[in-house]
Amino acid sequence: MLSVIRVVVSHRCEELRQMIFEVFGFKLAVDGGVLVLQNETDVQKAKSMIEQALSDRKIDDYVVAENTEDPAELAILRRGDMEQIGLYACSFCMMVFSNDVERNLHQRVHYFGFG
Ligand SMILES: [Zn+2]
Repeated sequence: MLSVIRVVVSHRCEELRQMIFEVFGFKLAVDGGVLVLQNETDVQKAKSMIEQALSDRKIDDYVVAENTEDPAELAILRRGDMEQIGLYACSFCMMVFSNDVERNLHQRVHYFGFG
């Protein structure tokens, strides 16, 4: 059972860190450069709250990615930086893939109208 969720913000962007504080308020602690959500166990809920906050603020050059190796970690990444660290996001729904072949295969469902 997870008791905390870590949120890694790339580039120590103050606007994003401020946004996370506004979204999660008192639940948030800072550990080094990492924001820690206490008493929060639902990664999907945390992810959608952050995505909603990004969209409310019309911040569309960042995406929220799950760490496939650590289910308790979310990373807020600048789109342009993702490919450098080996992540490829679908440009339609922002699902994240570990290589561009899988991403391109996935993107076909959008082209053909199944997504
Ligand atoms: Zn997609």
